[in-house]
Amino acid sequence: MKKVRAQATRSLSKIILGIFIFTTFCVIPQLGTVATAEAQTTKKITVASGTKYATPMYIIDSGKAGPTVMIVGGVHGNERAGYKAAAKVKDFNIKKGKLLVLPQANKRAVAAGTRSGGGSDLNRAFPKTKSGSSTNTLSKAIFQQVKKYDPDWLMDMHEGANYQKLKSSSSVGQSLIYYPKSQTRIVGNKIVNSMNANISTSYKKFSLLRYPVSGSLARASAIQCGTNAFIFETCSRDPLNTRINRQVKAANILLGHLGMK
Ligand SMILES: [Zn+2]
Repeated sequence: MKKVRAQATRSLSKIILGIFIFTTFCVIPQLGTVATAEAQTTKKITVASGTKYATPMYIIDSGKAGPTVMIVGGVHGNERAGYKAAAKVKDFNIKKGKLLVLPQANKRAVAAGTRSGGGSDLNRAFPKTKSGSSTNTLSKAIFQQVKKYDPDWLMDMHEGANYQKLKSSSSVGQSLIYYPKSQTRIVGNKIVNSMNANISTSYKKFSLLRYPVSGSLARASAIQCGTNAFIFETCSRDPLNTRINRQVKAANILLGHLGMK
């Protein structure tokens, strides 16, 4: 009888061990696989592929439903904080929705360190009316992506040579320039207030302005696609790191407001 009981105990131990092994090596890794299927993916595509303007765009997909946000840098190649901040944003982790990042919209201008890289001003080359068209190869290729992905929000990272609040200045440095829509104004205000909380010199504070200039990517996206769009301008008189941090912070506030960060 004792022998039988001992055998039964051994069998039970084997069953328990079996369950443990099955759970550890089969069930838990499968749970891991489920999590992986929902994880973020980043796809790199080429905008203006096959032309001298070819430039990468990153499509960061959280795998979960949510808003689509497009963030652009390097429309003007001499506005360094814009493309340097956009390069950081492309490595963001997001909780939901899609994040499209075009870090160097005008790659030739970025390489040359000039506003337009020898060609025409990219931020005047997008559609100016509801039925208008982009006016050059690069603006056409970028706007094609806007139409394809139809972002809910678009942030275009720029810089001004001087502070907007200085009376002597005709520059738009330190401003958020939005296309009027109620949601865009709310988020614009939130970003400007948050920036200004850490700036004590009054002429260095950010202003909330409208409208983005005619022919700009922000304005074209708003009028043709209904995008909540704005241009964010730091001032190149500040240290480069401060400017990059402000651009990244503005992107973070936008994504945070949308529940994506
Ligand atoms: Zn600019």
